[in-house]
Amino acid sequence: MILGGHVGGGVKAAPERAEAIGADALQLFVQSPRAWRFPDHDPEVLASYGDRARAAGIQATIVHAIYLCNFASPDDTIYGKSVSTLRDTVDTACAIGAEGVVFHVGSHLGSGFEAGLERALPAVEQVLERCSERTWLLIENSAGTGGTIGRSLDEVATLFERLNKHRRLGFCLDSCHLWASGYDVTDPVALDALLDEFDSRVGLDRLRALHVNDSATPLGSNRDRHANIKEGLMGDKLSVFLGNRRLQGLPALLEVEGQGKGPDANEMQKLRELWEAGTTARTRAPARKRGSSARRPATRGTRDSRSRGRRSG
Ligand SMILES: [Zn+2]
Repeated sequence: MILGGHVGGGVKAAPERAEAIGADALQLFVQSPRAWRFPDHDPEVLASYGDRARAAGIQATIVHAIYLCNFASPDDTIYGKSVSTLRDTVDTACAIGAEGVVFHVGSHLGSGFEAGLERALPAVEQVLERCSERTWLLIENSAGTGGTIGRSLDEVATLFERLNKHRRLGFCLDSCHLWASGYDVTDPVALDALLDEFDSRVGLDRLRALHVNDSATPLGSNRDRHANIKEGLMGDKLSVFLGNRRLQGLPALLEVEGQGKGPDANEMQKLRELWEAGTTARTRAPARKRGSSARRPATRGTRDSRSRGRRSG
């Protein structure tokens, strides 16, 4: 895994902030998350992002669309603003060479899954056309609060199918949202079953990013409350998720509060410890019957050892 976190500072300062907390991957907003207004980015700042990220040792950049967006909203004003914001976000993500734009489909606010889907699909379709070979659109699974879409693997697969398996469409799975929507990602058997189903209905090649958060609310609670690493109900067992063989190689990003300012060096350190515990436990365990090692490219593991080496040395 390429371990990292969501950092502030925007396009200008995100790489140095990420480096300062010991991250090898970063997620950022490209506008203030509290307002619809989209900034006029300085083209030079956008153009220099790749070099600055490389210099800071950042191996993957993910842009997160702001949470105000709701593509399933029955309200035309919110819907229109959501679509134009995602368009601008994707354009900026392409300009900085990000690997993807993560977004939440949103909530149908009681109008029903199918009604929400009919709103969301054309919105996502038109933004997908602005994506590039490098910069994909990534749907994040939801915790299942209210009428949020993407609360189950079935809904995720439905989105994938109804968007005609667009070649630039991918997914981001959030450990806290999976847990809150009833998937026990701390149980190796349950996690393998989830990944088997994802692989058969969507394809693991479409899984492009992970959010790694502990949960402050119980399994299946449908409440979205991220907890700091080792401080929530998953605790040390989050190492099962982090150590899973089929999830290696992906950017794994913290979205935790830390000490109130978001992911920090301490959270990154705990994340690294749990990842190492998870991968060590896996390699020591006897070979499992489930899963298929043959499917994974052998090169993936080298990235992990490289990033680990960089940190320890
Ligand atoms: Zn998330």
